[in-house]
Amino acid sequence: MRWNHLAENPTAAADPALFSASAVTTRTFDAPEFRGITFHEIRARSILNRVPGASQMPFEWTVNPYRGCTHACVYCFARKTHGYLDLDTGLGFDTQIVVKINAPELLRRQLAAHGWQGAHVAMGTNVDCYQRAEGRYRLMPGIIEALRDRANPFSILTKGTLILRDLPLLRQAAEVTDVGISVSVGFTDCELWRTVEPGTPSPERRLDVVRAFADSGIGCGVLMAPVIPFLGDRPDQLRATVRAIASAGASSVTPLVLHLRPGAREWFMAWLARTHPHLVGRYERLYGDGAYAPRWYQRRITRQVHELAAEFGVGPAADRGGRRGARPQPTPVPTPAPESERGTQLTLL
Ligand code: SF4
Repeated sequence: MRWNHLAENPTAAADPALFSASAVTTRTFDAPEFRGITFHEIRARSILNRVPGASQMPFEWTVNPYRGCTHACVYCFARKTHGYLDLDTGLGFDTQIVVKINAPELLRRQLAAHGWQGAHVAMGTNVDCYQRAEGRYRLMPGIIEALRDRANPFSILTKGTLILRDLPLLRQAAEVTDVGISVSVGFTDCELWRTVEPGTPSPERRLDVVRAFADSGIGCGVLMAPVIPFLGDRPDQLRATVRAIASAGASSVTPLVLHLRPGAREWFMAWLARTHPHLVGRYERLYGDGAYAPRWYQRRITRQVHELAAEFGVGPAADRGGRRGARPQPTPVPTPAPESERGTQLTLL
C-alpha cells in the first residue's frame, strides 16, 4: 500500500505525506456491524485541508477524519481516492477504512496556530464523518469541541444518524459560532435505497435527523442528492421526496443530479448492468463520455424541485411552530480534493 512505500521512503513522496509513515495499525472488530471491515489507524500529519479551486466553493477548508466509507453508495465519487493508497476502489472502498485517530488533537493544535484566521471548516464533503466507524472511534466529539472552543464556524454534511449523538455538543457550538448541518437525501424510494446506498440509514431515519435539528433550533438543510436518472427522477418520486423533506422541517433543499466521475462511473455502471441492464444504453446516451448529465436535464430537475419546494413550503418561511428560529446556513456541497489529500476527488453524500 502507498503508506508502506512512504514508510520505506519517508522523504521520497512528492505529495505532502498524509500521515506519519511509522504509524499504521490495522484492526478488525468482531461486532456484527463491523464484520468484513478492516480499519487502518494512522496518525495524520495535517488535518485542515485547503480546498483546491476554493473560489467556487462557499468554504476553503475541510476536515476529513476518515477515508473510505462503509455507507457503500454505489455512486460514491470518493471511490477513486482509495486507488491513491493502492486500495481497491470498489468493495475495498466500502470495507477498508482509514482512520486518522489523532484528528481531534491535531485540529485543536492547528486551530490554535499563529496564522489561522478562523475560516469556515466544512466536514462530510469528502467521505461521511458519521459513517459506522465513528460509533467506535468517536473522533467527531473532539473535533466539534475543538471548533467550539475557538468559536470557529463549521458545517457538516452527512447521511449518518449517528450525528444525533453529538447534538448537545453541536448546540453548544451553535451558541458561539455559525454551525451548518445538512443531511443528504436524494430520494425516499426504499427499494432504490436498499440497492444503491446499502450501508446507509434509511431516508426516513435521515429525515428524523433533519427533524431533530429543526426542533433543536439549529436547523438543517437537505442536499437532495443524488437525483438518479430513470430510477429516482419520476415526477411522483421527486414530489414524494420534497414533500417528506418539507414535512421534516428542512431549512432548505438543494437538488443535485448524479455525477459519474471516473472511479464512480465504472462501479456504478457495473451495478447498473447487473440490476437494470435495460438502462445501460440510456445512461450511455445521457452521459456520453462525460461525468455530468446534460445541462437541460440538470435544469429540468432543479426547476421541478424548486417548484415543489415552493409548493410544500420548504425553507425558513414554512410555519413549523418553534422551528422558525434557526438561521439558514449554506448547504455544503461535495468539494474537490484538499491539496494535502491529493488523489481525493469529489464525493457525493
Ligand atoms: S456517497 Fe457519502 S455516504 Fe455514500 S459512500 Fe460516499 S462518502 Fe459515504
